[in-house]
Amino acid sequence: MEVIQSFTIDHTCLKPGIYVSRIDKGFTTFDLRITEPNREPAVAPAAMHSLEHLMATWFRNSEVSEDVVYVGPMGCLTGMYIIMTGAYSAEDMRRLTIRCLEWILGQQEVPATQPETCGNYLLHDLPMCKWECARYLNRLRHEFHSEYTKLQVTLDDGKVFADA
Ligand SMILES: [Zn+2]
Repeated sequence: MEVIQSFTIDHTCLKPGIYVSRIDKGFTTFDLRITEPNREPAVAPAAMHSLEHLMATWFRNSEVSEDVVYVGPMGCLTGMYIIMTGAYSAEDMRRLTIRCLEWILGQQEVPATQPETCGNYLLHDLPMCKWECARYLNRLRHEFHSEYTKLQVTLDDGKVFADA
């Protein structure tokens, strides 16, 4: 089995920011990294779930809604994935995400949190979601990172490669 692309990113020095995770078949997967993996606490599940509802709502109602394919959390709970069609850069996504986060900070409730509309409607935490959004917003404004550090992987036969 090949090492899949996102596992060749060096997570030990990954900073919060927005990265192009992969581009395939006209789709760009953006890595919206919210916390430093393994060095800061990951986003709590309930806060991440609320962020998913809010971020998906904003992006799917924005001027780029036609190009939004998917918005969802990473299993490691350190960030979100957004998949877009069309030509968007990390800087484009930074500008959009800043507006999205500003909108979230003004919300008084999480959309679609009824048993009919959500698979785990009690698992929400808007105050903690806003706390994470405020910190991420500050980072996107003042210490933006968008270049991955690739991990060199040593194969069983001693060959070394760095994914590009
Ligand atoms: Zn839900």
